[in-house]
Amino acid sequence: MIEFQHVSKRYGRATPALHDITLSVARGELIFLAGPSGAGKSTLLKLIAAVERPSAGSLTVNGQDLGQLKPAGLPFLRRNLGLVLQQQRLLPDRSVLANVMLPLMVTGAASGEAEKRARAALDKVGLLDKATAAPLTLSGGEQQRAAIARAIVNRPQIILADEPTANLDRDSANLVLDALKTFHAAGVTCLISTHDEQFLDCANRVIYLRQGQIVESWRKETAATVT
Ligand code: ADP
Ligand code: ADP
Repeated sequence: MIEFQHVSKRYGRATPALHDITLSVARGELIFLAGPSGAGKSTLLKLIAAVERPSAGSLTVNGQDLGQLKPAGLPFLRRNLGLVLQQQRLLPDRSVLANVMLPLMVTGAASGEAEKRARAALDKVGLLDKATAAPLTLSGGEQQRAAIARAIVNRPQIILADEPTANLDRDSANLVLDALKTFHAAGVTCLISTHDEQFLDCANRVIYLRQGQIVESWRKETAATVT
């Protein structure tokens, strides 16, 4: 479903953020991207979402070669991706519900239908009782779960979450992870970056990045190292 072939990414003249990444992600996997800050985790997720472009190598997502992707193809790619990026905060001037409805409204859904689906998505992350609340009155963990509801309301096949548990206490972090695991259990492919090793227990595949390279990778089923 996601195929990296010798992908590198260089920002300007600096040392590459990612170097020679070859990686294959099958439908339905739950993958944690681990590694220290600066290792290239966000960059890897941004390449999949075509927020950034590879400097070298080839990257295919859902059969689409991102090197060949025209600007007109972007909305089609993104429709199948649920993004939970660190920079994307909820809009403070409208309710949690309106925030979650937004991705449906921009694709032209009727507002009644959008509201019904947004409520269903909030229910899935345990936040239906906060639907009418203003985002800034929510705790950090609740805001993250609302962001997850917004990311999945379009029923994407892939969820990309960048450090979704950063700055959360353990209980809130567990709720956020439970929400992601619910979607994984429903068949959604999930890639989650974290530098928080305490959450790696529940992964069925972990990929460690360091200085832009995959230094270790394992799957739970086999417990074998498959670097
Ligand atoms: P991580 O998510 O593991 O913390 P990043 O992918 O954010 O790692 O960063 C990898 C490297 O790329 C770092 O050295 C970072 O400074 C650099 N980098 C990331 N984004 C940019 C950017 N937009 N411009 C320049 N350098 C960047
Ligand atoms: P509904 O069919 O009314 O949308 P569901 O209980 O089937 O209600 O889904 C609740 C929410 O969870 C929906 O908003 C949907 O976006 C999301 N969802 C459910 N299943 C999936 C899935 N397989 N992939 C992505 N999102 C899903």
